Amino acid sequence: MRIILLAGALALAPAQSPQTVHQQFTSGGARTRVQILGQPRNAIFGFGTAGAAAERRVEARFLALPSESRVRNFHRFLTAAPHVAGSPRNAALAEWQRRNWQAWGIDEVEIVRHDVLLPYPQEVRVEITAPQPWRASLKEDPIPGDRDTARDPGLVYLAYSGSGEVTAPVVYAGSGNPENYDWLAAHAIDVRGKIALVRYSVPYSYRGFKALTAQQRGLAGLLIYSDPADDGYGKGKTYPDGPWGPASHIQRGGIPFDFLVPGDPLTPGWASVPGAKRIDPKDAVSIPTIPAVPMSYRDARVILESLDGPEAPAEWRGGLPLAYRVGGGAPTVRMTVKIDSGIREIQTVVGRIRGSERPDEEIILGNHRDAWIFGGVDPSSGSATLMDLARSLGALARAGIRPKRTIVLASWDAEEFTLTSSTEWGEQFADALTRRAVAYINVDSSTSGRRFTASAVPSLNRLITETVRDVRDPASGVSVADAAQRMTSSEGGALPNAAGRDLVNNRLGSGSDYTVFLNFLGIPIVDMSFDGPYGVYHSMYDNHQWVARIGDPGFRYHTAMTKIWGVMALRLANADVLPFDFGAYAKRLDEFSTEVEKRWRDRAGSTGASPFAPVREAIATFASAASALDARQARAIAASGAADRDALNHTLMLVERAWLDPDGIPGRPWYKHQLYAPKFTYAAEILPGPAEAVAAGDDARLAEQCRRLAAAIARASAAISDRVSTR
Ligand SMILES: [Zn+2]
Repeated sequence: MRIILLAGALALAPAQSPQTVHQQFTSGGARTRVQILGQPRNAIFGFGTAGAAAERRVEARFLALPSESRVRNFHRFLTAAPHVAGSPRNAALAEWQRRNWQAWGIDEVEIVRHDVLLPYPQEVRVEITAPQPWRASLKEDPIPGDRDTARDPGLVYLAYSGSGEVTAPVVYAGSGNPENYDWLAAHAIDVRGKIALVRYSVPYSYRGFKALTAQQRGLAGLLIYSDPADDGYGKGKTYPDGPWGPASHIQRGGIPFDFLVPGDPLTPGWASVPGAKRIDPKDAVSIPTIPAVPMSYRDARVILESLDGPEAPAEWRGGLPLAYRVGGGAPTVRMTVKIDSGIREIQTVVGRIRGSERPDEEIILGNHRDAWIFGGVDPSSGSATLMDLARSLGALARAGIRPKRTIVLASWDAEEFTLTSSTEWGEQFADALTRRAVAYINVDSSTSGRRFTASAVPSLNRLITETVRDVRDPASGVSVADAAQRMTSSEGGALPNAAGRDLVNNRLGSGSDYTVFLNFLGIPIVDMSFDGPYGVYHSMYDNHQWVARIGDPGFRYHTAMTKIWGVMALRLANADVLPFDFGAYAKRLDEFSTEVEKRWRDRAGSTGASPFAPVREAIATFASAASALDARQARAIAASGAADRDALNHTLMLVERAWLDPDGIPGRPWYKHQLYAPKFTYAAEILPGPAEAVAAGDDARLAEQCRRLAAAIARASAAISDRVSTR
């Protein structure tokens, strides 16, 4: 899936401190090796002198392997036909991956199967019944010279939409966020029982949140369209002349409430293995009830032109040459949506390269395979990258260069529905993952342009920064890190991790397969991509030709991502002492806590002792434990004794687990991490327990949530300092 936030919404991105840990590593020219304060050239965080030299040799071998022509061929094969989750084509691709990975020297390759609720459409129809009868095409036009677009990709729909027929007047509700409905209510426009027409973007909110909001406000149906101001001609040239969406492009997608619980809606919190217990669909909290349909602006325009009522506020108006009235009386629209409730098989392909020294510690690398149609960028750019990475790591292993820790490769399925196979797999193997997983590195869409973006837990900032200093940006020849710092967010199709000057965004929401690892299992995560102007997301135009001609001609950035992903995995796998920096975590925690406490103070009626006092105290303890650990890491790296390192590595691996609270956050027991959760829009909610209590104005809950957060921080401090103090 991957959250797409268009440039207009960047103002919403939270302000971040310009100061981050990685900025102390600023260095000069393109070929300059990382130079860390007090460390020799060629040093790598987590490695002693001998270890770093050996690692550099391994990386030099690895970096020669990724191939632009091979990644292009993988991409062409993956995108040759539509491969939605549950389809025969997507199952065939899983088999193709399994065979290739085996042939390339990946040790254990298996296909893990889950049976999950994957609704498919049977009938989707939108018509104006009065004043003038008209029927929406709900089709995307073929593009001359792009044969893929001549195929019939089937009915467009929104997965987990309700089924039914609704005939009602339409109201235009801007982005379909609560404040839009508040405005309508304030202007005496009754929306109950009507059909809302809303825009996808500006400000960005996840389409499932639009469905929930419409449902809560009493709407009977929902139409979501792509306005040209957001991802079409208002941004620039449209496909096939440029990257933006043409008139008929339609953004499909899922609309489940996976901000409440992701994965198969019928097995919330446990795995959909064959024969698993399933709840009744009507009891599933993540399934919307009202029908919803996605539309192009070419179709939506006809409805917008027929709307009566007053003109909408200026911010709601898009790029079409019309008045953008709010409606409420005319026109009358009939939506007919029939979606089945099929239980379908999905396949997760898992391959392991067994570690030579610590096989029970695992670095997991994942990408989803399923696409809404061809999946040019989303996800096949990432899938092609994963294929070339598997080939390259397999070649190293066959040459006798094994990682010290085990590297696991995963090709997820049904991510587009509700992060389904990663969630089911994570739930199924929760015990083993809790014991064995070092980190999870996600690449969903690897490449829609040239701007490197990364989101991660703060303890991995330094690993990411060092890695992208050692991989070259194909266009400029400087390091990927330097190139990323030079580019501004104005370049972008822009994801919501535009974090000022920070290279790594530490505000983690949701929208891809890292969610189960972070929020349910407490495993450190990274999520990365190269982004650029991209207006064809989840449409038929997101295909091989878009990528080959516009997104990444020459497939050079695909290959750069293969290198970054591989080097990062190898450093985690081979490190003498795991490259986790908890000092960075302490700093961010302090920043987050200050920010949420300020929201509490700024709220009317907040007086007296701050409920954040125990949190602040716990952070101070954590910060000093982290700096003691830092010194201990440096000593263990310098020493040669393996016993010391083993114990320390075990400690480092498990610190992230301390942030989990088995009860989860209020109302969302599946989301157990105390520092991160997605907002219902998918944006990041930092310190979700206290933050949501502040927003709700619930002081008793706030005190309780601050106590729980302080307890989680104390657990992390104890996890670190027990080990430090005993040595
Ligand atoms: Zn995706």
